[in-house]
Amino acid sequence: MGADNTHSFAPAIILFGSPGSGKGTQAKLLRHCLSGPHISTGDMLRTHIGERDEIGAQAERLIKAGKLVPDELVNQLVERRLKSRDCDSGVILDGYPRTRNQADVLLRMLPVHQLRPAVVHLVVDYDRIVARLSGRRQCPVCGTLYSLKTNPPKVAGICDLDGAKLVTREDDRESVIRERLHEYDVQTVPILNYFREAKVPVFEISGAGASPEQIMQRICGTLADSGLVDSGSTSGGAAATDAASETSFS
Ligand code: AMP
Repeated sequence: MGADNTHSFAPAIILFGSPGSGKGTQAKLLRHCLSGPHISTGDMLRTHIGERDEIGAQAERLIKAGKLVPDELVNQLVERRLKSRDCDSGVILDGYPRTRNQADVLLRMLPVHQLRPAVVHLVVDYDRIVARLSGRRQCPVCGTLYSLKTNPPKVAGICDLDGAKLVTREDDRESVIRERLHEYDVQTVPILNYFREAKVPVFEISGAGASPEQIMQRICGTLADSGLVDSGSTSGGAAATDAASETSFS
């Protein structure tokens, strides 16, 4: 990294936060102010599991236990993905990197693709996370997420968009959620300091106490204030109020 020409590079926004902090939801909403694809290693792994291929077979047991899959496997998935042309205008990384090794590999990969990293850390307390995730349901067909409490489907148990029967992800059971939070504390939290030491900008944003749209405005406003995205592409910015209730998340 370190080279001065990196300010002409497109942004690689690393969405950082515990499981259930709202990274997936924000990754989708951030299209309002960022271009480029949403790259979620969790979604990529679930696709492989659905396709019953070799990668899926390796990942499935670990995901069900709330454990991380091996670094080499996810590093390869991301490396391959970053080669696509649609990443030229920037990327939104969701759930990657999660270990020091992944962070290290990513920081070496990004400049090769003319991308420069910035971290958005979504901060949400763990009791709220457990409540959020254990009440979460997902459509197995289109991936839409619902919350039994704050964002239920119109017909109980059925996806509003395609009528499929909603499921609870195996790793959204409380014991597995606790294991995922433990993995996050031990393996992932320390890489925030690693990013700071590598002079990667880290923005702390509250991921609670507001609607997903308002949280998105906070993020876009912060990125615009830092010159990482066009200020013209955001509306309202950090002025988003905290008064609204949470409605959905992933
Ligand atoms: P997510 O949908 O991001 O919460 O990921 C679901 C699960 O996939 C995690 O609990 C891990 O088992 C696995 N996973 C996703 N991304 C990674 C990663 N970057 N490194 C290791 N395991 C991952």
